[in-house]
Amino acid sequence: MKSFQAIVISKSDDKQRAELSTLSEEDLMDGDVTVAIEYSTLNYKDGLAISGAAPIVRRFPLIPGIDFSGSVIESTNGRFTKGDKVILNGFGVGEVHHGGFSQIGRVKGDWLVALPGGMSTRHAMGVGTAGYTAMLSVLGLEDHGLRPADGDILVTGAAGGVGSVAIMLLAKRGYRVVAVTGRVSETEYLRNVGASEVLDRQEFSDPARPLGKERWAGAVDVAGGNTLANVLSQMKYGGMVAACGLADSMKLPTSVAPFILRGVTLKGIDSVMADLKTRTRAWDRLAQDLDLETLDSICTEVSLQDVLGLGESIIAGKIRGRTIVNPVA
Ligand code: NDP
Repeated sequence: MKSFQAIVISKSDDKQRAELSTLSEEDLMDGDVTVAIEYSTLNYKDGLAISGAAPIVRRFPLIPGIDFSGSVIESTNGRFTKGDKVILNGFGVGEVHHGGFSQIGRVKGDWLVALPGGMSTRHAMGVGTAGYTAMLSVLGLEDHGLRPADGDILVTGAAGGVGSVAIMLLAKRGYRVVAVTGRVSETEYLRNVGASEVLDRQEFSDPARPLGKERWAGAVDVAGGNTLANVLSQMKYGGMVAACGLADSMKLPTSVAPFILRGVTLKGIDSVMADLKTRTRAWDRLAQDLDLETLDSICTEVSLQDVLGLGESIIAGKIRGRTIVNPVA
C-alpha cells in the first residue's frame, strides 16, 4: 500500500492539534476490512473533535471523522470482498478508532453496512451520520404509530444536518413539517427541503411552562435544553418527541407534566451503537425515501484541508445542510 493522506489529531502538554499528515499502512489500526475511502462528512461531533471543544477524541494520535463510505480493497471478513461498496458510521470510529478523514480506513467488518442499491457512495455521505440519525428519529415516530393525519411534526435545528434531512424524509411521507430555526433568513431553503412553516427558535428559548397549548403530534429535536423543554410542553396528547441532540444544551429543564398529564413519550435516539438490523433498516429506507436531487441541493463538498477550518463553524451553527468531505480532492 502506498502512503496516504489523513487528518491526524495529536495531543501534547494537554493541547490538542489537528493537521493534515502523510501516513502508511503501519499507522492503521486493527480490523479485518480495509477500505479506500471515497467520501466522509462533517458532523457536529467531528466539529467538537477537530476544534477540541469537547473530549470526543479519547486516544491519540487519532484520525477523526465518525463516518465514511468507500470501496473494499482487502477483506478477511466473510461478509465483504474486494470491490464491495460499504458505509461506516458509529462504533467509536473517529473517537477511539481511526476515522473517515482519511484516504484509507481499516475497521471491523461487523461495523460496516453494504451500500444500498440505488445510492452512490457520495449520496451515502450526503446523508452521513446526521441523515442516518434523522432516519432513526423518523422511524421512531412511525413505530410510535404516528401518521400524517395526526397533525404537524416539529423539527428543531432545522437548517442543520439532522434537521434538514428529517424535514426531507417527513415531507416525502406526507407529514406537514414545521421547522424551528435560529436562521429565519434560511426560510426559502427550509421550504425547498419540505417545511410547510418556519418558526424562529427564540419562541422556544425561554424557560418552559409545565404545559402549553397542544400543537405538535410529533417532534424531532436536535437541541435539548430549553428548546426541548418547550417542545415537550407543547406536545399534543399521546405525542412523541425523538430526542437526538444537544445543540442548545445537555440539560433538560422540564417537569413530569407532559408525561403524566398528556401521555407524551420522549424517545432517545442513538446512532453510535445501533445494531446491524436497525442500521440496515434505516439505510434501506433512506435509499427508498430520499429525493437525491434535493439531497444534492443541501450538500457542499470540501477537501481534507478545508475541513480543518470548519470544526468551529459547525459548532457555532454556521453550517447549512450537509458537508461532504472528498479525501482525494
Ligand atoms: P448541525 O450543526 O448541522 O445542526 C445543528 C443545528 O442546531 C444548527 O444548524 C442550528 O440550526 C441548531 N442550533 C444551534 N445552536 C442552537 C441553540 N443554541 N439552540 C437551538 N438550536 C441550535 O449539527 P447536526 O445536525 O450534525 O447535529 C445536530 C445535533 O444532533 C448535535 O447536537 C449532534 O451532537 C446530535 N447528533 C446526535 C446523534 C446521535 O446519535 N444521537 C448523531 C448525530 C448528531 P438552525 O440554524 O436552523 O437553528
